[in-house]
Amino acid sequence: MTETAPDTTAPSSTTAPTLRFCPSPTGTPHVGMIRTALFNWAQARHTGGAFVFRIEDTDAARDSEESYAAIIESLRWLGLDWDEGIDVGGPNGPYRQSQRSEIYAEVIEKLKAGGYLYPSFSTPEEIEARNVVAGRPKQMGYDNAERDLTAEEIAAFEAEGRAPVWRLRMPEEDLTFDDLIRGEVTFKAGSVPDYVVVRADGKPLYTLVNPVDDALMGVTQVLRGEDLLSSTPRQIALYRALVELGIAAQVPEFGHMPLVRGEGNKSFSKRDPESDLFHHRERGFIPEGLLNYLALLGWAIGPDRDVFTMAELVEAFDVRDVNPNPAQFDLQKAEAINAQHLRMLAPEDFRARLVPYLAAAGLVSAHEDEALTEREREILDDAAPLVQERMTLLGEAPDMLGFLFVADGALEIDDDARKTLKDGATEVLDAAVAALESLPGDAFATAAIEAALREAIVGGLGVKPRLAFGPLRVAVSGRRVSPPLFESMEILGRDSTLTRLRSLREELAAS
Ligand code: GLU
Repeated sequence: MTETAPDTTAPSSTTAPTLRFCPSPTGTPHVGMIRTALFNWAQARHTGGAFVFRIEDTDAARDSEESYAAIIESLRWLGLDWDEGIDVGGPNGPYRQSQRSEIYAEVIEKLKAGGYLYPSFSTPEEIEARNVVAGRPKQMGYDNAERDLTAEEIAAFEAEGRAPVWRLRMPEEDLTFDDLIRGEVTFKAGSVPDYVVVRADGKPLYTLVNPVDDALMGVTQVLRGEDLLSSTPRQIALYRALVELGIAAQVPEFGHMPLVRGEGNKSFSKRDPESDLFHHRERGFIPEGLLNYLALLGWAIGPDRDVFTMAELVEAFDVRDVNPNPAQFDLQKAEAINAQHLRMLAPEDFRARLVPYLAAAGLVSAHEDEALTEREREILDDAAPLVQERMTLLGEAPDMLGFLFVADGALEIDDDARKTLKDGATEVLDAAVAALESLPGDAFATAAIEAALREAIVGGLGVKPRLAFGPLRVAVSGRRVSPPLFESMEILGRDSTLTRLRSLREELAAS
């Protein structure tokens, strides 16, 4: 948390920017939303600026506590930390809009007193009827007709029992700003009608509270989705009013990030499971891999380079390098990058991260590494290095390693593994059992196991090496594909290995 007061000076190249992430807590965290958080975070960390996290929960009908908690959990899981805001506090709290009503009421009074807002009594039907008469296209919306109501006109409406909404007076000139990602953007004078910022019940709308909070929290750079670009001229107009009133120090710079699209360039809707951040966590993406991939949705660290750490991202990131074109979420590429990050983990770290996935599948007794039984720890110590290079997602762990944790009698043999067993399988199993029986328990180690089995099966039976060990793999792991066989046997130990070999042998004899 930064102890400094909010920045009240105009932004300059020598002042580090203040950025923010301000999601609305509706539904489960969306991948596009997290990409927004990531770019704001990266920009703050790269520049040495501040990162503020607030929650825009002004829509009681759609917002939920569950979603609020899920957003916090997602940032914490990913390691996107913030300097000011939710949970950590700071000088400009509270950081949930639902708790800031008094602050907004005060600002609204100042805006009214300054003449920036005016009351508007027209119903939607009245506005439409006026547009029809004036031959004004419907999509142009409100016609600014009530800008200069007299006190008598206002009194007359009130006498009818009408309560007004309040609109912000839009400037009558072109509105231009220099988008950090898109360059110069201009909205023509008159293209944006005076818009509602306060409801008839006195409650402010998102269009007011979002810029007001940015102003009060000293935000100097706003990076957000391209879908919000059309609301930016309205926000800038409000900002100018806030600057004139001394409430805002400056109009922030804006950068509108490219949309994230789904497979086949479709929109990435909340219904699409791939848009759900936690879906990827469940499958076993690690934060490093997922964040790396999300950073590629609109940004690149350099030509022909896809894999980087968060430290490297922070070092290199500049929002001005973000590409404005839509970015498509490509699950295969995301997985390939995740696999690379799994390989980059320190062995103990990788091993510890397998535990929750094994626990979720009921294969180990606890979700934390420290709470495992000694035997479980022993298996994991030896088995994790065997799969670190082979795994794409941590969620593959139960399938790859499950056979090492289940009791011999509970091992299930997959159908496709069983199908690989040829006629000679019984002889191979018999030879293996005999060879391993003659290997004493204290010599039951990978190299000795391999030597004994090669001699018995390749040497003794004359089976081609390529075919010699298939039946043993099936017996021991129940799978057609498994981690390295002799290492797996060593981990299981002599008794368990022999029990499994005999068990398949008996099964084949009976069939
Ligand atoms: N609460 C808004 C949203 O979730 C944020 C808009 C903004 O970043 O300005 O879309």
